[in-house]
Amino acid sequence: MNSTVTQTNNHTLLNDIQTQGIRLEGISDLTVREGGAGPTDHKAVTIFDNTIMIPVFSQSAKESPFTASSPSKMGYASLKKDNEIITTIRFIGEPKFYKENSSDGIPFWKIARLHSKDVLATTVLQNCIRYKDKETSCQFCAIGESLKYDTTIAYKKPHHLAEVAKRAVDLDNISQFIITTGTPASADRGAKILFESVIAIREVVDIPIQVQCEPPNDFEWFSLLKKAGANSIGMHLEAVTNRVRNKIMPGKAEVSLSYYFKAFKAAVTIFGKGNVSTYILAGLGDTQEEIIEISQKLITIGVYPFVVPFVPIRNTPLANHSSPKKEFMHGILDPLAKALVAAEMTSETIESGCAKCGACSTLSTFEKKHIA
Ligand code: SF4
Repeated sequence: MNSTVTQTNNHTLLNDIQTQGIRLEGISDLTVREGGAGPTDHKAVTIFDNTIMIPVFSQSAKESPFTASSPSKMGYASLKKDNEIITTIRFIGEPKFYKENSSDGIPFWKIARLHSKDVLATTVLQNCIRYKDKETSCQFCAIGESLKYDTTIAYKKPHHLAEVAKRAVDLDNISQFIITTGTPASADRGAKILFESVIAIREVVDIPIQVQCEPPNDFEWFSLLKKAGANSIGMHLEAVTNRVRNKIMPGKAEVSLSYYFKAFKAAVTIFGKGNVSTYILAGLGDTQEEIIEISQKLITIGVYPFVVPFVPIRNTPLANHSSPKKEFMHGILDPLAKALVAAEMTSETIESGCAKCGACSTLSTFEKKHIA
């Protein structure tokens, strides 16, 4: 093993790997990919007991100093840096529930997907009012891609979600269900559809559920979602300044930052500290200082800022946009983790959601460094 790699600096190594990606040895044509048109170019990989999403087909992965040997049938591979073996890693394989169908014949893998190693995730409505028009769409978003390639269905009905949840828990020990939605034209922003979904899921399984949507018109939805059985809610800022929001997500930027903060505060009174979170994509143009400043404000009101490195998705306007450098992420994640630990609001303490899963960022590994 490389002598510079120890358990105490895992967070640094994991951040380096997640921002630079891993090249898969023996695959030179990056257009060759299982499934052909999935929404992301990440793979879930377990490294030193942490499962994180790693770009393997992006431009940065092509130039990365990290490589992995061809995985064994069980998914094990050697991770190398500059050809020196660092450790053994494991690529997460397909779950058993993918082989089954719903009562009306839809393959479960089209209804919900395994994320990381034990998270079930779905997009209830695979359409968004903002998506088809370039004037309004979020430039990083690929919500329509999987529909185009018939790898999902447009609307996952409550019984679909209940059936897949039951089998995924029974067969694959799923630990939580994350249900997001494209934004419909209604004023509730998808909260009603999420509410109906949670009720159906709760009838069959007892696992933590996170719902994700834009802030609804009526904050009473937070109470209804909580009563239905959701443990946490995510309302995603993605970019944190109006400068970047107007450029990258012109439609969604019409929902002001002040309205998001009003919604965050209302949601924290219902779901509790840390069980309201927001996804922030670093690398879209917001500076380190801007991301840290807004994160501090979020932590103060009990909202968990889940800061992740932006990874370009093919067939989107930002397909050729670069990912942030490892130093840029380190400069955000280290002080952010320290602030989260001080606020006693960490990935460990919250009930469900992306921040609990933690695979799209190495933030939780930085938290462990500050807890130690
Ligand atoms: S952090 Fe969220 S989006 Fe990323 S793998 Fe986990 S559940 Fe999926």
